[in-house]
Amino acid sequence: MNATATHQHSNCLRCGRALRSAKSVATGYGPTCTRKVKAAAKAEVVAQYKAHLVAKAEELIEQGALIPLRSGIYLAPSSDGERTYKAHRTACSCPAGIKGLHPCKHRIAAHILSLAA
Ligand SMILES: [Zn+2]
Ligand SMILES: [Zn+2]
Repeated sequence: MNATATHQHSNCLRCGRALRSAKSVATGYGPTCTRKVKAAAKAEVVAQYKAHLVAKAEELIEQGALIPLRSGIYLAPSSDGERTYKAHRTACSCPAGIKGLHPCKHRIAAHILSLAA
């Protein structure tokens, strides 16, 4: 996997506060919001998803890759970084999401983030 996570965030993706530490700038979440998102990822409703997809969803979140739009919709980059998908916990515009057979990692990430919202 090529980790092209070079996002720099000046404000928290969850609460909008200015980010200070290098770690927060890289992940896009302040320490309090990081804790809340991590707690949401452990929620029972998240445990219904396949564990390896939850791990990938958490990875995306830790990279600050999901940008909140509104109403629980998040922008998520494709793995090659060339496209952007719109993800909601119930639907996603990525190829796997359009097939809709299983929730994709973007949907799971959107679900975790909306639980922490
Ligand atoms: Zn925050
Ligand atoms: Zn998706």
